[in-house]
Amino acid sequence: MNGLPCEINGSSCRLVIYSLDMYRGLVPAAAYLIASLLFIFGLKRLSSPRTARSGNLIAGVGMALALLGTFLLPDMGHFGAILIAIAIGTIPGWLLAKRVKMTAMPQMVSLFNGMGGACALFISLGEELKWEGGPVGEPSIGACLAYSLPMLLGIVLGAISFSGSLVAFGKLQGLVSEKQLRWPLQKHINIVVAATICIVAFCSWNPQQRTVSIIILTSLALLLGVLQVLPIGGADMPVVISVLNSCTGLAAAVTGFAMHNMAMIIAGTLVGAAGSLLTVLMCKAMNRSLAKVVFGSFGIAPKGAAAAAQGDQTMRAIAASECAIMMGYARKVIIIPGYGLAVAQGQHLVHELEQMLEKRGVEVKYAIHPVAGRMPGHMNVLLAEADVPYPKLLDMEEINPEFEQADVALIIGANDVVNPAARTDPGSPIYGMPILNADKAKNVIVIKRGRGAGFAGIENALFYQPKTRMLFGDAKAALQELITEVRGL
Ligand code: NAP
Repeated sequence: MNGLPCEINGSSCRLVIYSLDMYRGLVPAAAYLIASLLFIFGLKRLSSPRTARSGNLIAGVGMALALLGTFLLPDMGHFGAILIAIAIGTIPGWLLAKRVKMTAMPQMVSLFNGMGGACALFISLGEELKWEGGPVGEPSIGACLAYSLPMLLGIVLGAISFSGSLVAFGKLQGLVSEKQLRWPLQKHINIVVAATICIVAFCSWNPQQRTVSIIILTSLALLLGVLQVLPIGGADMPVVISVLNSCTGLAAAVTGFAMHNMAMIIAGTLVGAAGSLLTVLMCKAMNRSLAKVVFGSFGIAPKGAAAAAQGDQTMRAIAASECAIMMGYARKVIIIPGYGLAVAQGQHLVHELEQMLEKRGVEVKYAIHPVAGRMPGHMNVLLAEADVPYPKLLDMEEINPEFEQADVALIIGANDVVNPAARTDPGSPIYGMPILNADKAKNVIVIKRGRGAGFAGIENALFYQPKTRMLFGDAKAALQELITEVRGL
């Protein structure tokens, strides 16, 4: 009888400890689950510029929740060091993202993606080096496959993504030559490096060679990232960044798999899948295979033929005052923004012009090509920044049937995305690429600085057609002139 209260106390103690343990295990799992749902929901909202801002915020909240869940994991420690690391990453990240210019966005994305790759690399490296399957004795095949293999994959993919993204950043920032670099036996060297990585990975399962193998493996993977990206031309970098992005996602997912971390698996898979899909969509919109982007390409072969085809034809220049009359008295004007508009930062002026024309009763719409500019969604983001109402931005499929009713198609710093050779010239490198049917409009006005080719490096027959007039000049200056002239009508 005497022992009864004690026993009751003892079992309630055990119950409390058990409940606490359950709580410590369940709370992070619940946090990860909610975080994953927020990632998915946020990603879904990124599909439209109207909802993208909130989508970004929702995914950010998901990430904060996942971090909180990680802090609550039963075997967590080193809180001080982690908080310092978060501060080191957050402050420059925030400042850079706040200050970046729209035109520098691709290199910013590349840099951030490189940081993701580095994270996956260091997590996998840390886990793999402290793995007890090695030093304690011969690891079993099962242990190697279930634990070490995903870690090694995480190291390799993370390292490739890290070094490749840094090279892409260097190219876009002008720190490394933007040109397509070629050297002898390029592909063979890459294959040898990739094969050596596989052999060294296998050797790392021998406890005696473990540390040294992992160091060699990491160095080779970093080298492979550089060798893969260095030869690719600067203008192809957005596609490369997208490929590297999926690489980072995969690296995070395989690392999460070995660490049984649900948030890493889900977030990594989402990034990997989104990156792969984006790559496919970009390649489709440019009508190029991924192999062509990685191994070969625009700007080398094609120039000659198409340029020669134009012979001595001349482009017909037009003054801003005439353009203003054409547009100011038109019923419908379709504006086609391109890379040149982004470079000139003319987005606010184009919005001002659109508003002035609308006040005069002109119907104005924007035709948005999926790969206009140098990164996916470039034009949407650019025009959204200038507060152009989203319903005015029409995708290629929606706007193409409307060109025939347009009195003027105003092309601003765009070239390849309106090149009819994509429809008519089977020898053209852009043949098959879907384009905006600007040539179907009654009149075409093109704003560009001179006879410069576009990204594909080829001539554009549209610029020589009788219905086309060229308003030569920097997009921003030309738009400013146009606004002044329309105001004076
Ligand atoms: P584009 O074909 O590169 O043509 C841009 C034109 O803008 C040039 O002909 C240039 O002519 C003119 N320009 C440059 N700076 C200017 C300025 N300050 N003011 C006025 N004009 C200026 O551009 P796009 O039609 O937008 O086509 C995009 C190309 O990039 C496509 O070939 C696409 O495949 C490729 N690409 C896109 C992505 C993506 O995700 N969006 C990714 C990779 C590649 P002047 O020198 O005579 O001025």
